[in-house]
This record gives sequence, structure tokens and C-alpha cells, in this order.
Amino acid sequence: MQYIIKNLSVGYKKPLIKNLSFEFSNGLTCLTGPNGSGKSTLLKTMAGLLKPLAGSISIFEQDFSTISAKELAKLIAFVPARFPMDVNISVFDFVALGRIPHTNAFGKLEKQDVEITDLAMEQAEITAFAKRRVNNLSDGEKQRVALARALAQDTKILFMDEPTAFLDHNHRIKLFEFLTQRKDKICLISTHELDMAKRFANILSINSD
Ligand code: ADP
Ligand code: MG
Repeated sequence: MQYIIKNLSVGYKKPLIKNLSFEFSNGLTCLTGPNGSGKSTLLKTMAGLLKPLAGSISIFEQDFSTISAKELAKLIAFVPARFPMDVNISVFDFVALGRIPHTNAFGKLEKQDVEITDLAMEQAEITAFAKRRVNNLSDGEKQRVALARALAQDTKILFMDEPTAFLDHNHRIKLFEFLTQRKDKICLISTHELDMAKRFANILSINSD
């Protein structure tokens, strides 16, 4: 049960990262590297939003390029660095959007979808503001709502781009602890928190030169 990249090159026309090979297994891996080294580009490529310039990706022994967008949404939850959250809907409704890949064409939430949404909100510690509007939340609260939505997607793979950037010290530690405990998921996050990464996770370090 693995996510494997082989000789992967990513970038825009010219490669930013060349020939990267790595096997991600269950647990937390932290992607580190200076600004502009290509962390976000790598994550976007690994989530299927950008095409690799070279190399291959396989997910659970299936070639990435043969997986449809619909199947991919059941396999990978991705929280980009600036998740669009300027929406005037309730936190519950926003988190429940994570269930879309699993619901029918009408997007109707079944009992199980509501339970999974509730659990995701508990895990991200946002149950208390389930009824608030997403666009009225603080940046840190939004970041936890984005995490809850990714958890509601209930995927084996979770990628997050700088998920602790807006969190206070307490919630940062909690997020690392929580992700470390998710032994059922392949988690990859980009971060500048080297101390936390060393304490809690495997590290994949990339450099721009
Ligand atoms: P990091 O996340 O490590 O800070 P990024 O992956 O965001 O780095 O960016 C790496 C480099 O790619 C930067 O020099 C950035 O300007 C460039 N870049 C980012 N997005 C694009 C794009 N859409 N088109 C062309 N260049 C881009
Ligand atoms: Mg980035």
C-alpha cells in the first residue's frame, strides 16, 4: 500500500525538481525546502493538478496516468496553501463537500456521510463553530476547516501545503500529533517547521540548486 514516485521531474516548462524518487508509506512525511524550491509544485503534481515533466507515479500499484479524476478524488485529498474559502456557507456544509466523491449524482448526504462529516469536524476541533459562516472565520480557523473537509473525503492519501502556516502554537503541535497518529493514511505535508518535522515525521528535503 504505497505511493511511489520514480525519476520524477516537476516544474513549468523547465524542471524545478529533477529525478526525484521516493516511496511514501503510511504515516507522516514532511516536505521541506527553501521558498521557491518547488514544494507546492511537487504537491500539485502529486495530487494530479499538474502533469509531471518526466518520470512516473504509481499509487497502490496502479499507474497514476490510468486513474480517472473521479477515482483520484476517492484516493487523494489535497489542501492547497491558499484554499479558496471566501464562501458564504456554513462550516458543516463546507466540510460535507468533502463527501462529494462518495455521494450520488445529486450530492445527497446519507446518514453515513453526515456521521463522517461530524467525525471529521471533531478531529479538527471545529465542532463548536459548525454553524458559523466560512467567510467569517479567522485564517487559523479556516485552516482547520480545510483539514476537516480533507478528512471528510476519507481518502488513504492526504497532501497538505503548509497546513500549519496560520495556526497558533498549540494547534500546530496538535496537528502534527494528529497526523502522526493517522497510521491508516499516507500523509505528506510541506512545512518550514523543521523542529516539529524532526520530532514527529519522516523528512523529504528538496533544494533548488
Ligand atoms: P515553494 O512551494 O517551494 O515555495 P513553488 O512550487 O510555489 O515553491 O514555486 C517554485 C517556483 O516555480 C517559483 O520560482 C515560482 O515562481 C514558480 N512557479 C510557481 N507557479 C508557477 C506557474 N504557474 N508558472 C510558472 N512558474 C511558477
Ligand atoms: Mg509553496
